Amino acid sequence: MKRREIKKLLVANRGEIAMRVIRGARLLGIKTVAVYSEADAKSPHVALADEAVAIGPAEPAQSYLNATAILSAAQITRADAIHPGYGFLSERPEFARAVHQAGINFIGPPADVMAALGDKIAARKIAERAKVPVVPGIETGHPAEIHAFASRVGYPVLIKASAGGGGLGMRVVESESQLESALEAASRQAKAAFGDGRVFVEKYLPHPRHVEVQILGDLHGNVVALGERDCSIQRRHQKIVEESPAPNLSEATRAKMIDAAINLGRAAGYCGAGTVECLVDGDDFYFLEVNARLQVEHPITEIRFGCDLVVEQIRIAEGEKVMDPRTPIGCAIECRINAEDAAHNFRPSSGPVMHLSVPAGPGVRFDTYLVDGLEIGTSYDSLLGKMITHGATREEARLRMASALGEFSLLGVTSTAAFLHDVVASEPFRRADLSTHFIEEFFSGWRPAPDGDDLDAALIAGALAASGFFGTRGVRAAAKAASGAPQRRSPWDDLAGFQPWRA
Ligand code: ADP
Repeated sequence: MKRREIKKLLVANRGEIAMRVIRGARLLGIKTVAVYSEADAKSPHVALADEAVAIGPAEPAQSYLNATAILSAAQITRADAIHPGYGFLSERPEFARAVHQAGINFIGPPADVMAALGDKIAARKIAERAKVPVVPGIETGHPAEIHAFASRVGYPVLIKASAGGGGLGMRVVESESQLESALEAASRQAKAAFGDGRVFVEKYLPHPRHVEVQILGDLHGNVVALGERDCSIQRRHQKIVEESPAPNLSEATRAKMIDAAINLGRAAGYCGAGTVECLVDGDDFYFLEVNARLQVEHPITEIRFGCDLVVEQIRIAEGEKVMDPRTPIGCAIECRINAEDAAHNFRPSSGPVMHLSVPAGPGVRFDTYLVDGLEIGTSYDSLLGKMITHGATREEARLRMASALGEFSLLGVTSTAAFLHDVVASEPFRRADLSTHFIEEFFSGWRPAPDGDDLDAALIAGALAASGFFGTRGVRAAAKAASGAPQRRSPWDDLAGFQPWRA
């Protein structure tokens, strides 16, 4: 096969993943093009890329989801490849097809493979053909058959939208009396949200873990797996803490799951980086779905396997063979630090980054787009950065994470860092008592520890007010941020060498 060398890559995304992809491309000597919305003109991914093109207003539909604007940006800058990152257009087969038709290399699987896997009903069928166990379910929308299925497996059951994703379009049904109205409502919502009202029903597993396998496929038909990740710690079906390898999983189950993922990848004709997601119940595992893109939590795999998955994606798109995975080393954990107020039902937060102090040292990596002065808004997802730690053992990675989150300090935007610190430092996490209900079970009604942060907040607010640098809004934001900051040390400590910033 002729090598399709990539010289210039357009990154069709924003935030930390845009930074991550630009850095991967640079490693290969590939020039990069950033795209940005009006809200992101000052975002650091714009400065990091060799070129940048404005693609529209803040609303995602008019910018990062605007396939026409992104394709023209690629054509104007003569980019020969597009990396979609995750979210936005990354799993839209029509976009992958349009990119291909424009003679541009799409960093991801072929559009048809993506289309088959993006449809949960079709993906279940591929899994069944590859002899991969799926969650017991029924793929018809016919109420009588669904009733019969639900009485057979027992309530609760879960209604899912075939076109759903990102934890959206799921509905638990506790009893027969709710089934019919829930099916109608779910179908209506799926139609409105995804333009496709097809739903199906699965047995609701009461206490599962979420374990997924990283796969890489190439254009020559090879598929390899790079271990698994446990992503059970979730809130509203959104992952917040991930780790690799999955603790307390028998070697036999791990090996079977990895084989199943490779078989599924082969059966689907998979190419590029993908993730086969499963639910685990004791020693049984069940296929959930394939995410046909790079996952948010890919760094924990990179760290253990000593590889760069963005580089692998690009090499694969150029026509090279998949890497030979090395033997993984140690354990890695990732915590997603979001712009949310964990003490107030995780409501979104926003504001200027007034001061940022990021931990460093052996086994600590922080993937982010935060820089001092950046205005964090609410137009996009709330991910501010990903703290990733590595250790020879899980306990070492965990202690490193607790220490790194304790050192992390961000003023101006309330983040979930203190909450994540307490999760990782907790006894249930230490003993890996993992399930998708971990947060409800152990952390509902979480409040930051009262040790000293009110005082810190007052001190900072007072100092900033006296300095007159930030005005009232800044002082309030700083005080608010300090009250959500990690508790083990005072954010006040960070103000040594503090440089005031003027907007
Ligand atoms: P999405 O594509 O919207 O992310 P998934 O099918 O990947 O949906 O499921 C997301 C999460 O929802 C899982 O990690 C798990 O927490 C929960 N979930 C999905 N299916 C089931 C099920 N059958 N039983 C129990 N929990 C489930």
